[in-house]
Amino acid sequence: MIATQKAAIEKFMQMVEKRNPGQPEFHQAVYEVAQAIIPFTEEHPQYKKAAILERIIEAERIIIFRVPWMDDEGNYRVNRGYRVQMNSAIGPYKGGLRFHPTVTLSILKFLAFEQTFKNSLTTLPMGGGKGGSDFDPKGKSDNEVMRFCQSFMTELFRHIDKDTDVPAGDMGVGGREIGFLFGQFKRLKNEFSGVLTGKGYAYGGSHIRPEATGYGLLFFVEEMLKARGENIKGKKVVVSGSGNVSQYAIEKVIQLGGIPITASDSDGFVYDPAGIDAKKLAYLMELKNVKRGRISEYAETYGCKYYAGKKPWMIPCDIALPCAVQNELVETDAGVLVNNGCMLVAEGANMPTTPGGIDVLQRNGVAYAPGKASNAGGVAVSGLEMSQNSVRMSWTREEVENRLKGIMQDVHKQCEKYGKNGDGIIDYVKGANIGGFVRVADAMLAQGHV
Ligand code: NDP
Repeated sequence: MIATQKAAIEKFMQMVEKRNPGQPEFHQAVYEVAQAIIPFTEEHPQYKKAAILERIIEAERIIIFRVPWMDDEGNYRVNRGYRVQMNSAIGPYKGGLRFHPTVTLSILKFLAFEQTFKNSLTTLPMGGGKGGSDFDPKGKSDNEVMRFCQSFMTELFRHIDKDTDVPAGDMGVGGREIGFLFGQFKRLKNEFSGVLTGKGYAYGGSHIRPEATGYGLLFFVEEMLKARGENIKGKKVVVSGSGNVSQYAIEKVIQLGGIPITASDSDGFVYDPAGIDAKKLAYLMELKNVKRGRISEYAETYGCKYYAGKKPWMIPCDIALPCAVQNELVETDAGVLVNNGCMLVAEGANMPTTPGGIDVLQRNGVAYAPGKASNAGGVAVSGLEMSQNSVRMSWTREEVENRLKGIMQDVHKQCEKYGKNGDGIIDYVKGANIGGFVRVADAMLAQGHV
């Protein structure tokens, strides 16, 4: 990168930090985009002239609200709720809700910002949004979670609608929470509509939505491997997390002939050198989704090693899939992966790799895909759920999975189109950011000063 471009990025980031103080995750997400987009807008002055980058980093609207609820002991509790409506240039705001004690405005702004680019890459008509609360569903009874969700929706319902803003799940928000949220929306509006995605199949959900992010990740990995003349058969795959994304990433690795050897939660990870097979995965899903237990129990059941307080990147592998949380793979972890011969890192989570980590991976020739490309499968099937709801029809599993695969192949093609360097290597960071940017930017240009 030339010195003037570096200086322009620095200056831009100073402005971002000044206008958004105390929001490090948001700064980090903007920085990644700015590095690709500022040089691109130098070559395409129509975007620079219309200040598209300055506009795209500013949320169209942010709603912050009180969520009071009562626990099972009759104590008054209060949490904070948010919805960041980031960009509606190409469709209604779309993005998940996160319930986790670490939720802040910075986290939700970074997620909503990334979502805008990701949704654009899917080629479906969806704008960017994200929301959630610092509520922790862990350790709460079903009744407590229901009362919280009802209170959350009692405020949120006036800001969302099927053609305005369509939330979905994210960390801490799975099928149970979406059901409670949908039930309350329906009561308040007296309307049965596709206002949320990730719904149960019995009430308007789509086949493959629970599986979509994990499956989509592996469809994207297949394309990355193909581009290098490789395939996944027999490859050792290290996965972090044991939630929704990780579970279905592991399932697809098994189906495609790879060998998943780790899973983790916020307390530690398990290493199963024999590989997590379909039977062990069924146990893991029951453990996490029904019993809501800890990953250490997997190690006790299958007699393998549990590493308390550690991350799985120390285990030698061919492929690493960070599927848990932002900034879980730092520079030193990336160094360990490189030294152990890892050839590919694709993100199931949002922004799990720090800028230093990305730099180490890219400099050492590891194929690295940012989440906004490789985990776009979840929102893609949410988009397909919206389409099915609009026409009040439901497609078969095979149909949805085929469409998902086609969309992930298209996302890969866009990364290739905008990210292929002179030496033939695909820079997925550059490709995903420019590919996602162009469609939104063109829509903003067409819509005037919005
Ligand atoms: P879940 O809540 O189902 O699972 C999250 C997993 O991450 C759990 O195993 C959790 O462990 C673990 N985790 C949480 N915090 C930490 C931490 N500090 N260190 C290590 N592990 C941690 O969430 P999802 O699977 O839905 O989401 C995971 C990631 O994927 C998020 O970044 C999300 O934004 C992203 N994503 C999700 C999509 C979806 O469709 N669900 C779509 C696209 C991206 P524990 O049980 O201990 O909390």
